[in-house]
Amino acid sequence: MNRSKKPLPHKIALKDKIYISESKSLKNHWVHCRLLRQGFKPGSCLVHYRGKRYPACKVTLKWKDNVPFRLIEAAHLSRPEHYFSIYQSGCNFNCKKCHSWYFSQYAMGNWYSPKDIAVLAKEYADRVTVMEPRNRATSFHAHDLCRSCGHCILTGERSPYCPGKLEPHQIISSPQGLGPARNIMAFTGGDLACQPEFYAEATREIKALRKNLWILFETNGYGLTPQVLDIFQEAGMDSFWLDIKAYHDEVHKRLTGCHNDWILRLPEEIKRRDFVLEVLSLFIPGWVEEDQIGDIARLIASVDPKIPFTVLAFFPEYQLRNVPSPTLNQMLSAYEACIKAGLKSVRLGNISIFIKTEKDFEILTSLGNQAW
Ligand code: SF4
Ligand code: SF4
Repeated sequence: MNRSKKPLPHKIALKDKIYISESKSLKNHWVHCRLLRQGFKPGSCLVHYRGKRYPACKVTLKWKDNVPFRLIEAAHLSRPEHYFSIYQSGCNFNCKKCHSWYFSQYAMGNWYSPKDIAVLAKEYADRVTVMEPRNRATSFHAHDLCRSCGHCILTGERSPYCPGKLEPHQIISSPQGLGPARNIMAFTGGDLACQPEFYAEATREIKALRKNLWILFETNGYGLTPQVLDIFQEAGMDSFWLDIKAYHDEVHKRLTGCHNDWILRLPEEIKRRDFVLEVLSLFIPGWVEEDQIGDIARLIASVDPKIPFTVLAFFPEYQLRNVPSPTLNQMLSAYEACIKAGLKSVRLGNISIFIKTEKDFEILTSLGNQAW
């Protein structure tokens, strides 16, 4: 996902040296991989640090006095999600299409403890302008509140596409533009769900402050083993935005470095534990097209047809710079495949990538307000 490079609101001194694996070789490290110990395989998690590559849990996570610290690249109110996003460095995947590669694949940022996250949460809670119920602790539902056009603030009148639900005093500025501030804190960027303690403890700290500040985890799903899901459930985490990167295992492996067999079981595992769930997939021409997106939609619909699903348009980045973006027709065919699969809440995202003319926009809006 695209995330801004704006500086952190709270800098923490980088006085602590980043801890490198005690083991001399990576081979030794895998013996201690948390996923391996649960019968899963390690992620494709080697992150650049000082000219070498180390497992993400060794250079972007550290423990000090029994407290977990995570390397955070940025943290601020994000658009178009209209929630507070914590952008983490280091990831258990190495996706060829990663839009956050400069911090997900390179160790960078500042160390945050769960208590430091609670400080951010406390400040953010005072700025919240929209209280959402828990079932709307999603990115999907941001779009039926505000399109971030800023029309009402700048001209005093709503734009023709304004959902008409908010008052101007609920629209505030953030590093990524204008919009509301919803009562949601999200972990995004690099994903280390395979090491759950930092997130679980941060969730507990936030919930101790405000029970109705919802905690959302944007995830590739790889670290969400049954044990980790149980830990997150017990801690009070609310919601997952699951990025299913491909339906075909061979494509998933080439794209991310890892298999997807467990990930395809996650919609059921997540819903069974009463988390809020939304799913996204990226339309990548030649890699993940309408057929696989239709398969993913069928899988989601078999669990619950009301699970929101976003199909995002790919744009060239990182190791897929030579792959084109999808066209409007390709995105429309993916949308139809999702509706045909039985899903009730489907939207197309990153519309500026595939909407080039007014006519294109008319075609898109003819699908209805929920579809974009
Ligand atoms: S980052 Fe996750 S997958 Fe990689 S070695 Fe550490 S625990 Fe295992
Ligand atoms: S899971 Fe997300 S952050 Fe991690 S490498 Fe893939 S796209 Fe990047």
